Amino acid sequence: MEEVRACALASGSSGNSFYIEGGNGKLLIDAGLSGKRITKNLEEIGVKPDELDGILITHEHRDHITGAGVLSRRFNLPIYATEKTWEAMGPCIGEIKPENRRVYDKKRGFEIKGFKVEPFDIPHDAVEPVGYSLFYNSKKISSATDIGHINRGLARKLDNSDLILLESNHDVEMLKVGPYPWPLKRRILGEKGHLSNEDAGKMAAWLARNKRVHVLLGHLSAENNFPELAYRTVASILQEKGINITKDIDLDVAYRDMRSAVFHI
Ligand SMILES: [Zn+2]
Ligand SMILES: [Zn+2]
Repeated sequence: MEEVRACALASGSSGNSFYIEGGNGKLLIDAGLSGKRITKNLEEIGVKPDELDGILITHEHRDHITGAGVLSRRFNLPIYATEKTWEAMGPCIGEIKPENRRVYDKKRGFEIKGFKVEPFDIPHDAVEPVGYSLFYNSKKISSATDIGHINRGLARKLDNSDLILLESNHDVEMLKVGPYPWPLKRRILGEKGHLSNEDAGKMAAWLARNKRVHVLLGHLSAENNFPELAYRTVASILQEKGINITKDIDLDVAYRDMRSAVFHI
């Protein structure tokens, strides 16, 4: 059976883009770095940007949309977002050809080139933020970053993923004692902010409870986290809960300023 390939082209507050390929379907979730960098990172893994079938947008924050307009215009790519997200990001991404302006109803899934796309609500301070699960053959790939907290509905949406890009934004202690002004700290720690390493660990343990899963930790903060710390925190929670790294779960970290490895699922 054909496998799925996935690569985080970049993940963090300075830009997010997640590439997923199955058969001849090629998609990006978000395009939050420059069109040039996305093109370069794609070419490194043997993909030409004009082969893409579309860009799925999670929400209108700049670190998720910066390169979307440029890529759409240069390579004639459709962009998919909810009505409200289109309204909110409109001025930032510039003119998009009407046929490339794809509006979907988030209550319904849709299909792109062999992928079944299922958007779901996430708790985050944007107008209508979503995460995505992509289904290809029997494989499920999910993207869940920019989430203030995990609730039961969200956990259910992410359950049974084979690969998940899961936010592991900050270490709570580093954030508390760090340089950010208090209102920003409060925002990040809030219900609609970003997910901590510890919460990512609990979520990863829950996901691995009855099915092997590949967890790619992402959207790490530059100021309040570092890759080894995110990995160690999540790994120790997994250990506490009796989850064996390598046997029950694969754990990796996506980088802020370079692409991840290409994962085959
Ligand atoms: Zn973000
Ligand atoms: Zn955001």
